[in-house]
Order: sequence, then C-alpha cells, then structure tokens
Amino acid sequence: MTNSSDITFTVWGARGSIFSGGPERLEFGGDTTCFTLETERGMVAVDAGSGFRALGQSLMARGGDRPEVIDLLLTHLHLDHICGLPFFEPLLGGSIELRIWNANPGDSDLFSDTLQCLMSPPVFPSLTYFDGLNLSAPKAGMAAELAMGGTARPFALNHPDGASGWRIECGGRVISVASDHEAGQPQIDNGIIEATRDSDLLICDATYTDDEIAARAGWGHSTWRQGLEIGKQAGAKHILMTHHDPERSDADIIAMEKEARQHAPNITFARSGWQCIL
Ligand SMILES: [Zn+2]
Ligand SMILES: [Zn+2]
Repeated sequence: MTNSSDITFTVWGARGSIFSGGPERLEFGGDTTCFTLETERGMVAVDAGSGFRALGQSLMARGGDRPEVIDLLLTHLHLDHICGLPFFEPLLGGSIELRIWNANPGDSDLFSDTLQCLMSPPVFPSLTYFDGLNLSAPKAGMAAELAMGGTARPFALNHPDGASGWRIECGGRVISVASDHEAGQPQIDNGIIEATRDSDLLICDATYTDDEIAARAGWGHSTWRQGLEIGKQAGAKHILMTHHDPERSDADIIAMEKEARQHAPNITFARSGWQCIL
C-alpha cells in the first residue's frame, strides 16, 4: 500500500554498454540502462536504453491508467542510453507526451540531430515518432521542472564526450543518478558529492572490478568501491550499483553484492524489475 506522496522507483535496465542476455544473466537482466520514478502525479524516466522498450510495453498494458506526460532525463547520448527510444510503443499514436532533457552536450542542435538520426533511415525505418518529441537542453546548474512535481538538476560526470548526472527532488525525497562516471578526478568527484548530498537513493557506476579498472582507464566507468566512497561522503541513505559489464554473470554480480554489503549494508546491485518505495 502506497501513500499519495510516495515515489515508486523501478529498474527497467541495469546493464552497461550493450544488451547482454543468456541463461546466466536472468536475475540482473540484459537490458541497458533505464529507471523510472512515479508518483500519483506523473512519471520521470532516467535514460532510454533497451529497458525503455519494456517500460513502454508496461505502460501500454495499463491502458488509460498511465501518465500523459513523461519527463525523460538523459545522462548522455551514448547508444546504450538511447537505443530503446525508437521502440517505445506509447509514442505511436502520441498517447504519451515525452519531454526529453539532455544537459550534455549543451549543444541542442547536436542533441536533436542525434535523436533524429537514431529514429530515421537508414538507422530506423521511419521518422513518424520524432515530431512528437519535445527536446530541452538545460545548461549546467539549471533545473528541469518536472510534470510530476519537483525538479531535476544536472551535474557533471567524468565520461568520454561528457555526461551529466541528475539530482531529482520531489516531495521531500532526493534521488540522484551518477552513472556513467569514472572516479579519480577530485574536482568532478567532489562536485558529485556536493550535488548528490543526502540522497535517499544514489545510483552509482559499478561497471568494473578492482582487477579490471587499471586496463580500462579513460573508458568512463568505476568500480563499486569507488561508487561506495562517493556515496559515503555524500551521506547517501541507499546506494544502487548499476551499469553492469556485459560479460558479468548473475553469479559474478551476486558475489560483488555480497562483498560490497560487508562494507555497507545499504547497497543493492540493480536488477531489472527491482523496485523500492521512497
Ligand atoms: Zn553507458
Ligand atoms: Zn557512455
């Protein structure tokens, strides 16, 4: 039973870089990154990876009981964060208005051109969806006013070609997204700690293991230990580790989660379908 002010948080995709399925990945799922927050007043989605398709199917199944407007906050335009967009069925027939916010790059022409390319020949068969999209490119420090109430404020992450995290505030709750991010640049790490301070839920990049990270310098991702360090310093109440490497099996991630929980009990490794009420 939820109260009218509750926020339901749902994971639709927790994989990084590319879809990765198979019987050894059933628990955490193969879909790439997508999360939603929903209240009685509306919905916010963060990123439109392949998990965004499953969100669309779920909304279609709800019939008339679905939000009229969804604010979609993009962290950046890498393919694993936007590839679900052309397959979001509620866009067909315009049954949902999608307002897309991308704070990086700040160039709104590049933002529009990239999505248009994704949803038009020869990449995708038609342009029919695109006219229904409402694109906004807030500058760093500006806040997006959300249809469900509250605000979303972007902040800088360390990622190739740039990326921005989001601090979402609604009804006294704070949910922050800080993936995709490569820890280790003090100025950016400290900016994230300030921007996500006292989050009820903080989403961190846990792509690599301690053994892998050195060989992946400059690829724009972190380990769960680095995410935990940011979460601890920011005073996060709960940390959700995400962007699982495509090679990682369920057994691998369960072992990582077990080890991480020995350091802090308030850590969960994101599974497709995982929900919490905030
Ligand atoms: Zn990514
Ligand atoms: Zn990326």
